[in-house]
Amino acid sequence: MSSGHLTIDLDAITANWRALDARTRGETAAVVKADAYGLGADRVAPALARAGARQFFVAIAEEGLALRRILGPGAPIHVFSGHMQGDAAMIAEADLTPMINSIDQMIRHAEALPGHPLGIQLDTGMNRLGMEPAEWQSVREIVLAQRPALIMSHLACADTPEHPMNAAQLASFREMTEGTGAPLCLANTGAMQMGPDYDFDLARPGIGLYGGRPHHDARPVVTLDIPVIQCRDLDPGETVGYGNTFTATRPTRIATIAAGYGDGIFRIMGPHTSLWAGGMACPVAGRISMDLIGVDITDLGQDPDHLQLLGAHRGIDDLADNAGTIGYEILTALGSRYTRRYTGG
Ligand SMILES: *Cc1c(COP(=O)(O)O)cnc(C)c1O
Repeated sequence: MSSGHLTIDLDAITANWRALDARTRGETAAVVKADAYGLGADRVAPALARAGARQFFVAIAEEGLALRRILGPGAPIHVFSGHMQGDAAMIAEADLTPMINSIDQMIRHAEALPGHPLGIQLDTGMNRLGMEPAEWQSVREIVLAQRPALIMSHLACADTPEHPMNAAQLASFREMTEGTGAPLCLANTGAMQMGPDYDFDLARPGIGLYGGRPHHDARPVVTLDIPVIQCRDLDPGETVGYGNTFTATRPTRIATIAAGYGDGIFRIMGPHTSLWAGGMACPVAGRISMDLIGVDITDLGQDPDHLQLLGAHRGIDDLADNAGTIGYEILTALGSRYTRRYTGG
């Protein structure tokens, strides 16, 4: 077996969902867009459904259709991008609930699928998706007559609880939804850490299910072990990899492992990143290539079969810090070459 091994702990995902669910006053959905943040919606979504999640969110209708085939009929599947051109057949077939983002989308939905369930997405300041306050005002009564399944908005700064944008968006959301009587939904993982004001009727965490910040007590979900292809001795002065960026300053032993930036291990993280052999950290030596990474195992004193990039010693957020990014991007970049194994569930 020459590919890296990615182990995904479904029990950790469901435990993370339960922990988040326990702290919100309302119901807790699950965001499984981008193939459940790269971890495999076909395994993750059914596990979450068995744990008690009754509503799901995806980014686009194609994901919703795939998810419906996985979950079967019943659980509402909400689509953040709403009703885009060409989506009607998928929305009808898979019984999706588009989060309508504009008057154009509303007209499209009403013309193509009259009477089909819909939700509404409001823009409370992020300026990404959703109806603006004036736009909403002009169609509010027409929409409410259709009894929307959900009215939602999204926070721009939920990873920074003290940011004044959060309170501003909360106030705007309250003002725009007052007296609607529709179920309301504002909180992602970050907002779920900010107290009951943000709970409303339905919370929709994503990253917190998958073990990432800002769900501070999250159980880690992924382990990534990469096999060693060969080991070699270097004399002082010899170099490793493209561009000669590593030069041995002592008799050095290098392990070459079978993964690289083609597997989502960003080139930029090389200089800051170690891999683990048991309890010992072994630094990356030289540039990360597409399929290969050199690792300095001199201090290990033996040749390992594999080295660990993610696991007990390092989570997705620490690895993300090494690349100047966020855990979300680490997860969604995990490559298709890994041999995936699921535990629990
Ligand atoms: C991705 C997404 C979420 C989930 O956010 P997390 O920070 O992963 O919890 C919630 N709402 C919207 C609109 C999203 O795009």
